[in-house]
This record gives sequence, structure tokens and C-alpha cells, in this order.
Amino acid sequence: MSQTWVQAANLLAAVLFIFALKGLSSPRSARNGNLLGAAGALLATGILFVSGIPLNNLAFIIAAIAVGSAVGAVSARRVKMTQMPQLVALFNGVGGGAAALISVIEYLEVGSQDRIALAATVFTVVVGSISFSGSIVTFLKLQELMTTRPVIIPAGKFVTILVAVATVVGAVWLVVSPQAWLLVALLVLSLIFGVLFVLPVGGADVPIVISLLNAFTGLSVAASGYVLQNVLLIIAGTLVGASGTLLTREMAKAMGRPLTSTLFGAFSGTTAGGAGSGSDRPVRSASPNDVAIMLGFASKVILVPGYGLAVAQAQSTLRELADLLTEKGVEVDYAIHPVAGRMPGHMNVLLAEASVPYEQLKEMDEINPEFSSTDVVLVVGANDVVNPAARTDKTAPIYGMPILDVDQAAQVVFLKRSMRPGFAGIENEILYDPKTTLLFGDAKDSLTKVVAALKTV
Ligand code: NDP
Repeated sequence: MSQTWVQAANLLAAVLFIFALKGLSSPRSARNGNLLGAAGALLATGILFVSGIPLNNLAFIIAAIAVGSAVGAVSARRVKMTQMPQLVALFNGVGGGAAALISVIEYLEVGSQDRIALAATVFTVVVGSISFSGSIVTFLKLQELMTTRPVIIPAGKFVTILVAVATVVGAVWLVVSPQAWLLVALLVLSLIFGVLFVLPVGGADVPIVISLLNAFTGLSVAASGYVLQNVLLIIAGTLVGASGTLLTREMAKAMGRPLTSTLFGAFSGTTAGGAGSGSDRPVRSASPNDVAIMLGFASKVILVPGYGLAVAQAQSTLRELADLLTEKGVEVDYAIHPVAGRMPGHMNVLLAEASVPYEQLKEMDEINPEFSSTDVVLVVGANDVVNPAARTDKTAPIYGMPILDVDQAAQVVFLKRSMRPGFAGIENEILYDPKTTLLFGDAKDSLTKVVAALKTV
């Protein structure tokens, strides 16, 4: 294929990546955006085979593509919607790890590189490895294979600083005096740093770390593009790096704290206190009938969806309830917290699936002043995002995070299965408040019963 056509195809792939990002910026166009991105990636891979670049080990390359595609397709089809964040964390880590490995292999194969290429290699290895091991820890936290609370290891601050300094010194040394063993040592140090970096991050701050690691992967892929002299990798990596950085800023802003305090705050020793255990304290529980009566006689109701709504897959039933209340003349809004669920925009995506009109979704800043004039707040599978410990308990891992002020409403109803806490692993005092009622059970089951009862009210 002539180089003009190769360059035109490269340009087309780059344009597809840009339109993919644009599409992903709204739930309505996200599906098309995703397809455009996949088409861009397919084109970018295809170009390599016809570009005239000599390809060694063709059989290995084809086998790797076949295995990767099969694993990707099967896991994407099989994964439950609620496990999507873990899958994304894993895919993100694999991207960073692949960029790091490719740079190591390129260095070992090519040997002498100029200083700039060496610096790009070192950057890819360090940042890609941090992204890989950090994403694995994030995956373990999201899959709840390890505690979701901050993990503080003895002398953690000292060890982390030591590893960070050793990594920086090793990186500079390698650029000045390239040696293969040093590159491998740097890879290991960076992997360790990635783990130390994510372990102390508290459950509620995990979303910020996910987007930061996403930015890291993008930047390492861009740098590997420089090493491999592949313009498309530079473009795609830069797009991911830039969007990940913007998302990190937005998430940190939504959590109401500077990024540095999220990442390094836990080293100060605040080990996730939270309100006292109190799980044997009395709570007020009610039947679906009672809840239907409360809702049916209210004039203003706010629905607060959280992670449990996704687990129960109750979004359509929630919409049915909202429609029924609206028909009865009740004013209904949905309150959307930026970190509700387990991935950025989780609730928006979930409610879009149930075709909830956008006008009914109110962001936190818009809805918070409304709670004091609300008769009933129905909290469906949310916990951390309404926990007042974020305002009052300095030892809580969510301290400082802006929350939905549901405690300002006249009555609060929680739909949940048990007294278990949310992702941050801390008690929620509102559950014991005299104005709170609990309807225990799976959210979909409870909502179905409330809807049935409401029809008779
Ligand atoms: P939480 O994890 O705080 O609470 C979820 C609640 O849902 C629990 O109280 C649980 O109680 C209940 N629940 C679970 N399954 C069901 C079910 N089938 N039916 C009814 N209830 C159910 O969720 P929030 O959305 O309030 O907060 C999100 C948390 O996740 C925050 O800490 C956030 O920082 C963190 N996070 C967010 C990410 C993001 O990007 N959005 C990414 C990573 C973490 P029970 O078990 O008793 O039913």
C-alpha cells in the first residue's frame, strides 16, 4: 500500500478516535461513540499489516490478537452491568502494563536509543507499571476481594517516599547511563509504587484514583508511541491522557477536596473511623404498603438512586413508580450524586436505560436546596452519598465529600437489604434517625410491591 494511503488511513483512524470521545460525552450518543472508537482501533491495527513495516513473528502477533479479541469479547458479553467498573479498571491496567512491556522489549531489541527516546522509554515503563499495579489494587477493592477501607501499612509513608525517590533516581540514571538491568529494576520499583500509591486510598475516593490511573495509561501509551515512532499511538494516548486528567479534576472537585489530599491524606493516619458500630440499635422498619401510603400522600418526593439500584436492576421499576406518582399529582425529581454507583456517570447511564427524562435528573448542587421542602426522600440502594458522617466525622474516609442533604427532608425511606454499610465501610447515622423508615429487601422486589400498593392508594 502506498504511504499516501497509509497516512490517509492513519488520519481517518485519528478522526474516528476524536469523534468517539465526542460521542462518549453523552449517554445518548455513547453507544455510537464506542463503535467509532472500536472502528478506529480496528483500522489502526489493520494499517500496520499493510504499511510495509517489516513484521517479525507474524504467527505470534496473529495469535495474540486472536486470544486478546476472544477474551475481550467474552468478558464484555458475560460481565454484569454492576461489574463493569472492575472490568474497566482491569482493561485500563492491562493497557498501561502493555505499554510498559513493549517499551522494555523495544529497548532490549534496539539497544542504543537517543536521549529523548530513552526518556520516553523510561516514562512509559514507570507510568505504565504504576498504572498496571495500581489498577490491579483498584480491581481488588471494587470486586471486594480486599477491604475497601484505606490500608495503612506500618511506616507506609516512609516506604512510599523511599520507593518514589529510588524510582526517580533510577529513571535519571537510566537516561544518563542506559543499562538493561536498571530498566528491569525500574519496572519492579514502579510496580511496587503503584501498589503503595493506591492501598491507602479510602473506598469513597476510589473513583478519583480510577480516573487518574486512566490518565496515566493514556500518557504511557502516548510515550510508547514516541518510542515506536507510531503517530496513532501518540494521538490515542494523548486523547486518553487528556480526558482522564480532566475527569480526575472533575471528580476531585465533586468530592470537594484537592487531589493531593485524596492521594496522600490517608498517610496521615486517619484510618476510617466512622460512627460507632451501633448495629444493634433499634431502627424503624415498614411494609411496602406503609411506604406506598407515605409516598401517595406526599406533595413532593425526591428519589435518590445508588449502587444498590444497579445491583437490583430496578431502574425501570423506579421509573414506573415515579410515573405513577407524577400521575397522582406528586412532584418527583431524581437526585444524582456524582460518585453514586461504582463508575462516573453510573446513575445517569442506568436511568437513561430506563428512558427517564433528563429534565427529571438533578445534579447535587441543584437538588440540595430542595430537600428542606420535600415530604419524602426515597433512597434506593444508596448509602455513602447520603451519609452525614461526611460533614461531621473527621475520622471518616468520606469526610469532606459533599453529600445529598437527605436529612433535611421531613421523612426519609431507605430501600436496602440489611444494615450493612456502603462501599466506604462506615455506619450511616441517618438509618437510626426517628424520621427514617427502612424497607428491607431487594430494591426491585420492594419497588414492585410499593408500585402495586400505590395503585390501590
Ligand atoms: P454505597 O456502596 O454506599 O451503598 C450501596 C447500598 O446499596 C448499600 O447500602 C447496600 O445495602 C444497598 N444494596 C446493595 N444491593 C442492593 C439490592 N439488591 N437492593 C437494595 N439495596 C441494595 O453506594 P452509593 O451509591 O451511595 O455510593 C457509592 C460509593 O462507591 C461511594 O463510596 C463512592 O465513592 C464509591 N465508588 C464510586 C465510584 C464511582 O465512580 N461512582 C467508583 C468506585 C467507588 P445492603 O447490602 O444492606 O442491601
